[in-house]
Amino acid sequence: MKKHNFSAGPCILPQEVLLKASEAVLDFNGSGLSLIEISHRSKDFVAVMDNARSLALELLGLADKGYQALFLQGGASLEFVMVAYNLLETKAGYLNTGTWSSNAIKEAKIFGEVIEVGSSKDENFRYIPKGYSIPSGMDYLHLTSNNTIFGTQIKKFPTTDTPLVCDMSSDIFSRELDFSKFDLIYAGAQKNMGPAGTTLVVVKESLLGKVTRKIPSILDYQVHISKESMFNTPSVFAVYVSMLTLEWLKKLGGISAIEQINEKKAQLLYSEIDLNPLFEGYANKEDRSIMNATFTLTDNKQKDTFEALLKDAGIIGLNGHRSVGGYRASMYNALPLESVGVLVDVMSEMERRG
Ligand SMILES: *Cc1c(COP(=O)(O)O)cnc(C)c1O
Repeated sequence: MKKHNFSAGPCILPQEVLLKASEAVLDFNGSGLSLIEISHRSKDFVAVMDNARSLALELLGLADKGYQALFLQGGASLEFVMVAYNLLETKAGYLNTGTWSSNAIKEAKIFGEVIEVGSSKDENFRYIPKGYSIPSGMDYLHLTSNNTIFGTQIKKFPTTDTPLVCDMSSDIFSRELDFSKFDLIYAGAQKNMGPAGTTLVVVKESLLGKVTRKIPSILDYQVHISKESMFNTPSVFAVYVSMLTLEWLKKLGGISAIEQINEKKAQLLYSEIDLNPLFEGYANKEDRSIMNATFTLTDNKQKDTFEALLKDAGIIGLNGHRSVGGYRASMYNALPLESVGVLVDVMSEMERRG
């Protein structure tokens, strides 16, 4: 039976991408060798890395604008460290909108002063702080565009002269933004781009080289740029599958095309959450994420019935994160609208049964 995969990450990927990836594991480009048993310095793999890097910039509208795209390792969690290592000389601002922002703050404090410009911790991160002021003289301001665990998303980004750094792990390539407003963007692949094992970093080159501390080579963005993202052996499989997903997205019409579908999916689910008395949304309405919808049952006695119906419908990955409880439907780019329809049908069936 077909599964409807609402997992928060690692998450669903397009079927055609999985098919091509599985073929490449057996025989890459008709070479008689597997993608994962050839040299990363071979002509065929260098072409994959180059293509993945340029597709990322092209889809974000950042080609020829002074940015470099890198496919690194260590997940978004290593970027919490690398960002501060490479950019934090004296002080930096962080907007605390959830678990991942809090983790980023913790690492940055090792390198300098952290100013928490705003926080929604007082309401267990169910909203995005607004109207906060941005003190002058900060090396950068760090934001988390989409809070995967709490289901909130920044809709309007601040206009400021302070360089903007953004963790876009769970909503990169999902909606149109003026990406040139950001000086550094990073995203672990496993939410909306590929398998776990690689992290996309898009950085404006002019931002780098300003801190006085010595940076170990493997943590130095400038080293990775000069080595064209091949300082050491990259995660070849994860980069290849990410490249396939980016090609799939380009063929579909790019970010503007997928955004329309993502909006439709989110609207379908949120209107059911709002109309059905058995369910209640977790996040503040105006800050709701189009990627991760968090909700709870209004009557917990219905839990077993709901979960049995979900199972019968082939829906998986709907459990909320332990810090929020309830349910979380992750509707990343590759999740078909049809899957959201199946979930909404289960929710309305619950209401019919009373
Ligand atoms: C999942 C996630 C992370 C952590 O990613 P890792 O690749 O596991 O280190 C960081 N930030 C956000 C917004 C995430 O969703």
